[in-house]
Amino acid sequence: MQVMLLGLPGAGKGTQAERITQTFGIPHISTGDMFRAAIAAGTPLGLQVQSYLKSGRLVPDGVTIAVVRERLLEPDASRGFLLDGFPRTLPQAEALDALLNDLGKALDVVLYIHVPQEVLLARLTGRRVCKTCGATYHVHFQPPAVEGVCDKCQGELYQRPDDTEEAVSTRLEQYRQTEPLVRYYQERNLLRQVDGQRTIEDVWADVRGILEKIQR
Ligand code: ADP
Ligand code: AMP
Repeated sequence: MQVMLLGLPGAGKGTQAERITQTFGIPHISTGDMFRAAIAAGTPLGLQVQSYLKSGRLVPDGVTIAVVRERLLEPDASRGFLLDGFPRTLPQAEALDALLNDLGKALDVVLYIHVPQEVLLARLTGRRVCKTCGATYHVHFQPPAVEGVCDKCQGELYQRPDDTEEAVSTRLEQYRQTEPLVRYYQERNLLRQVDGQRTIEDVWADVRGILEKIQR
């Protein structure tokens, strides 16, 4: 199964991705997670991208595409994958098409999690992430049993440095670059829109239903 999650920052892609990988067993490929891991490890890639993540600007297409190309060539991606946060621009979408074509693969579906812009600020500023396992929480909408502690692994929860109001407003401005992708995948008959302004469980019921049909 080759699946893509499309949606603005805070739409709920990572939250649904956790459930999708658990249920369908496909690797979760998140460019944001890969960049954050590189920054934490202090690799050359990390040094190259850290100022972009900090301020909320998009990493240049060339860098991002190279990272995804390498990741899709890893053995675990040969049996399917879940792209999250990539592509975010038209050149990235076109590069992905070319790359999948070279690999003899094609996308099965693009799940577009749609949430109105006004809702996203509250979602992002309240987001908390586990330092150890990466699980996502929200201080109001999805609180852990014990404040600041991950339910799954007891790891420490932290606030992403780009989930502050200042960086969030820059990140939400980038939607102009991502918006054309909705049409791009609509024209290719791949887009399935999911209403993301419902509970996490209701969104999951739709996502799961769509993917189960594809799997058959
Ligand atoms: P994305 O990966 O699209 O940026 P996340 O999955 O990290 O978004 O979700 C952003 C924040 O909103 C998180 O704190 C998450 O717990 C919360 N969240 C996700 N889905 C919902 C939902 N359906 N309703 C309310 N809050 C949600
Ligand atoms: P995310 O975890 O998806 O919210 O991404 C966090 C940050 O990583 C973004 O604000 C960008 O700086 C960078 N990033 C992630 N994915 C991409 C991408 N496809 N293109 C450019 N920058 C990206």
